[in-house]
Amino acid sequence: MRQITVSNITIDVVRKDIENLHLAVYPPTGRVRIATPLSVNDEAIRLFAISKLGWIKKHRKNFANQARQTKREYVSGESHYVEGHRYLLNVIYRNATPKVEIRNKKYIDLYVRLNSTVEQRERVMTKWYRQRLKERLPALIGKWQSIIGVQVNNYEVKQMKTKWGTCKREAKRIWLNLELAKKPVHCLEYIIVHELVHLLEGHHNERFIVLMNKFIPQWRFHQTELNQYILSYNDWNY
Ligand SMILES: [Zn+2]
Repeated sequence: MRQITVSNITIDVVRKDIENLHLAVYPPTGRVRIATPLSVNDEAIRLFAISKLGWIKKHRKNFANQARQTKREYVSGESHYVEGHRYLLNVIYRNATPKVEIRNKKYIDLYVRLNSTVEQRERVMTKWYRQRLKERLPALIGKWQSIIGVQVNNYEVKQMKTKWGTCKREAKRIWLNLELAKKPVHCLEYIIVHELVHLLEGHHNERFIVLMNKFIPQWRFHQTELNQYILSYNDWNY
């Protein structure tokens, strides 16, 4: 791989048969890559990188912040995402049944018992995420089942490390990753469509792509968006 260094940032340079220079910063490490037409020389690439330095640094900083935020302690002031929106966590300690409430479209009030541990606070939040996601699924799965013309026998929400969803064709069963509770609804729908389409086609082959294009033409955008959220895992499949 060809590389240049600009302002202490190493940039991978890929020469291709393309029209324009493309610049990208990738999570989770903030790797920078420039794809360039064959005709552009190193000096021009360097000048291009310098002109975009502000943009590069901004995105690298975002990824660094995101990576830091994946380690949650469930204390007041942390950012937590629900259905694609960011909220500030506000932890309230009191001796009553734990609960979670969204307030003023800005805060997540997390009510937990006095002296609760990180694990206990996390468990309350996880249960709440699961419940919210499960409440939304019947309508969404029902909608897409009738559009696609398939029917599942059952579906479940699971905590999975490496997959957004899975489909067992023989059992007509789909599993959806609990993490999807934090993502925008169109990302959740994209995964539902992906898993339901697997009932028609088990492999990620041409036929599968044709079906995806038919039912959810913008699916690649959702895929890209979902992949931007990949922070702590390298190899997400679905
Ligand atoms: Zn798949």
